[in-house]
Amino acid sequence: MDPANDISDDSSRFSGLSLSKSRIVVKTIFKEAGIESADIDARILLNHASGYTHLMLVTQGEDLLSSEAAARLNIYCQRRVQGEPVDKILGYKEFYNRRFRVSQDVLSPRPETEGLVDAALEFLRDVKSPYVLDLGTGSGAILISVLCEQEHATGIGIDLSQKAIDIASQNAETHAVTERVKFLRGSWFEPLKANYEDAPKFDLILSNPPYITDIAMTELPVDVMNYDPSLALRGGADGLEAYRTIIKSASHYLKRNCVLIFEIGYDQGNAVSDLLLSSGYYDVTVSQDLSNHDRYVLGRLA
Ligand code: GLN
Repeated sequence: MDPANDISDDSSRFSGLSLSKSRIVVKTIFKEAGIESADIDARILLNHASGYTHLMLVTQGEDLLSSEAAARLNIYCQRRVQGEPVDKILGYKEFYNRRFRVSQDVLSPRPETEGLVDAALEFLRDVKSPYVLDLGTGSGAILISVLCEQEHATGIGIDLSQKAIDIASQNAETHAVTERVKFLRGSWFEPLKANYEDAPKFDLILSNPPYITDIAMTELPVDVMNYDPSLALRGGADGLEAYRTIIKSASHYLKRNCVLIFEIGYDQGNAVSDLLLSSGYYDVTVSQDLSNHDRYVLGRLA
């Protein structure tokens, strides 16, 4: 067995240790396991296990870890060494300055997806009481962030997974937007057909759909492959299946001159733009994330 995976069940490796010392032990274990973010991961998991804040770790580092905290830290340590990302261990992820509950049933919101929220808010600045649709809402982080930032906005989030809908609903409650949001279960626009006689028209449709190609799916890093749901990642042979399906129906649900904004894979800008241009959208623009990769495509319905 690879020594990195030789995990002792014995939480006594942390018992009797001070917080500072345990931090060093965890960091060393993570480094030996090849985890690049060893230092910060060790600190965050130690905070979570001990209940000490970052500042307390600095000022009270000589305090001893309680046996309960040592047991918790041992489990977090094992999970991290096996490849589980820190946010799934914590059960939450920070996104757009708020904390969202996550689990293995939802894609953990990525920092680059904050740009999708920025693009949405930019468009909504001039819309009075915007009605927003988020397709494949997952944890609800995108839609809930938009609603929190735009207090007159209301919206619907749709997801195929009931477990995702449950998590999104909890996140809506945490961020006090339950009155302004509805989550529906189903495939893309389907629940709208089923729930409304006249199709509602939105001011904005947002989606970070699955966009990973079948080939790229086989090469995903372990923390994505084993801990994010493939439903949220798998975009079919060329990664574009979801875009095609969404664009085929979106015009029935979007007000004229209003906007559809997608997150895309870094090499999908041209393909998704072409799909929009050939389906009656204008002002089609591709924009970049903070790493300067093409990441968002916006189109306006003619
Ligand atoms: N950006 C995600 C990743 O890196 C993929 C998200 C998606 O398919 N929508 O895995």
